[in-house]
Amino acid sequence: MKNTSHSCPVCAYANLKEAPRSSSDGGSLEICPACGFQFGVSDDDDGISYDEWREDWLERGMEWSSTGIKKPKGWDPKKALTSLKKMKLK
Ligand SMILES: [Zn+2]
Repeated sequence: MKNTSHSCPVCAYANLKEAPRSSSDGGSLEICPACGFQFGVSDDDDGISYDEWREDWLERGMEWSSTGIKKPKGWDPKKALTSLKKMKLK
């Protein structure tokens, strides 16, 4: 079996359990443990864009959001955001 990983489009956290959005079902309803964005709720119901949420999260000091999921060793939000910018600059 192939082990696919899914990255958060807000903070680039790379270990989401599900794809944030699928073409058929919309948002996954998963909450990103890093930035706290809930796909299909924060965006669809609350109308917050990834960029808006990211800015807000940056202002809050890029806090680890989840209390149930532990922060992985070596999680570096700044590094993650740098890689995210690179991906977007294609
Ligand atoms: Zn995230």
